[in-house]
Amino acid sequence: MSTIADNLQAVNKRIADAAHTVSRDPHEVVLLAVSKTFGPDAVIDAARAGQRAFGENYVQEALNKIHALHSTLPDVKLEWHFIGPIQSNKTRSIAENFDWVHSVDREKIALRLSEQRPAHLPPLNVCVQVNVSGEASKSGVSAEEAIRIAHAITVMPRLRLRGLMAIPEPTEDVKLQRAAFHALRDLFEKLRVQGLIIDTLSMGMSADLEAAIAEGTTLVRVGTAIFGVRSRAP
Ligand SMILES: *Cc1c(COP(=O)(O)O)cnc(C)c1O
Repeated sequence: MSTIADNLQAVNKRIADAAHTVSRDPHEVVLLAVSKTFGPDAVIDAARAGQRAFGENYVQEALNKIHALHSTLPDVKLEWHFIGPIQSNKTRSIAENFDWVHSVDREKIALRLSEQRPAHLPPLNVCVQVNVSGEASKSGVSAEEAIRIAHAITVMPRLRLRGLMAIPEPTEDVKLQRAAFHALRDLFEKLRVQGLIIDTLSMGMSADLEAAIAEGTTLVRVGTAIFGVRSRAP
C-alpha cells in the first residue's frame, strides 16, 4: 500500500472513532481530500485507494490535475471541490470544471458562478464561507452577511445552496475549536429555521476534525494528514 493509502485509512479511522465517541454515524461525515500543492500522482494514489472527493485552492493547478486524472482513470468518477479564495476572473473556469464551491463570500461572485455554469451540467453546489473567528481571520463574511448571501443564492438558477463553510483561526485548545464550530452550527440551524433547505456544514481539517465532528460537521477538509506537510505556502 502507498503512504497515501495508509494515511487515508488512518484518517477514515479517526473520523469513525470521533463519530462513535459522540454517537454519530460515521457515514454522516464526508471526507474531502485537500490535494493543493501536490501533483496528479498523489491524487491518483488516493483515487486508487478509493477516495472520490478532492478539494483544491488554485484554479490552474486544479485544472491540470482534473485533466490528468481524467486521462489516467477515465472510468473513475471524481468530485472536485473549489475551496480557495475566488477571484472574479476565475469564476468561469470554476463554474465549468468543479462540482462544488465552498468559499462563496460575495453575492457578485455567486451571480457570476450561476451565470457561467454551463447548461449541460447540474447546478453548482455552493457553501457560503463564514468568518467565525472575528478580527483574527480575514476570510469569510459575518453571520448577518452570510444570511443575506445565502438567501440571495436560493434564487440563482444554476446554483444549489448546500450550506456553510468556515476556517476558524488555528488553535490547539479544543474548547476554542469547538466554540468556533458551534457558532457555525448555530448559524446553519438558524438558516434552516428560516426555511432554507441545506445539508452541508463544511468544517474541520487535519488538526481539528474531532472537534468538528463533535459539533455536527458533515464534511471535513483534510490535506496534511493524507498527503503530508506542504512544502510551499498554502
Ligand atoms: C489547505 C486547506 C485545508 C486542509 O488543511 P490541512 O490542515 O492540511 O488538513 C482545508 N480547508 C481549506 C480551505 C484549505 O485551504
